[in-house]
Amino acid sequence: MTLVAGVDIGSTTAKCALLEGDRLVGKSLAPVGVELVKDAERALAQALADAGRDRSEVGVVTGTGYGRFKVTFGQFTVTEIGCHAKGAHFLYPSTRLVLDIGGQDTKAIRTNERGEVVDFAMNDKCAAGTGRFLDVCAGALGYDVSEIGPLAAGARHPVRVTNTCTVFAESEVSSYVARGKEPRDILAGLYASIVNRSFSLLQRVGIEPEVTFTGGVSRNEGVVRALDRRLGLPVNVSPLSQYLGAIGAALYGQERSGGAAP
Ligand code: ADP
Repeated sequence: MTLVAGVDIGSTTAKCALLEGDRLVGKSLAPVGVELVKDAERALAQALADAGRDRSEVGVVTGTGYGRFKVTFGQFTVTEIGCHAKGAHFLYPSTRLVLDIGGQDTKAIRTNERGEVVDFAMNDKCAAGTGRFLDVCAGALGYDVSEIGPLAAGARHPVRVTNTCTVFAESEVSSYVARGKEPRDILAGLYASIVNRSFSLLQRVGIEPEVTFTGGVSRNEGVVRALDRRLGLPVNVSPLSQYLGAIGAALYGQERSGGAAP
């Protein structure tokens, strides 16, 4: 039993990371439905299929994310705050600040040189400035959220998005469309609004390099570019950024079980 698994059940997606030592050997990503226990089981099964490995080889499973208690077959649960910090530190050991923007919340996490959480701030009261906000606004523009990242490039007159509430922002986007505003100017306005909210959270914990951006919204290159500009600092983003909570969970399990599978 040489594998450790981290299963991250978020508000929008289920992620699983399989580690063998410090090597990522398999991963999975799928939307969550209403049966979170099944989603968690499927996430592990898909990561095992991705790795070409068998369930009997998994020694420790750690659950994280908003649905972590639904990882009923796991041995440990850890909050996603600790897991994103650990996952970010695993990829970028000099990280001192993590911004995680997921489907329904945004977290600013300050870490120490061991990747442990020193302080954090989050907005969890509404979906303003989160993935859900972008999903809904992309829909109002006639796009899927996976398409809108590059579309703000070349914006000349970014609109001002005044509404922070997702529902009102959606009508605001529709009214800009009706007034003939270009999608790139509307998207640039949306990205500025997300980044301004994130910047306030980051300021609450203290901004210092290196900054690592995690969570699904880090896949949006328009948000990444706007964040780089607002911070005036380069931001670490990896193709694995959406998996960093799951990777951090797997690392926690590895540590808690003494580095070896039971
Ligand atoms: P959670 O952990 O809360 O389920 P995630 O960290 O998985 O959330 O992030 C989900 C969000 O990521 C979605 O709401 C969406 O806005 C964004 N997202 C997911 N895939 C993409 C993509 N291919 N391109 C841009 N944004 C994406």
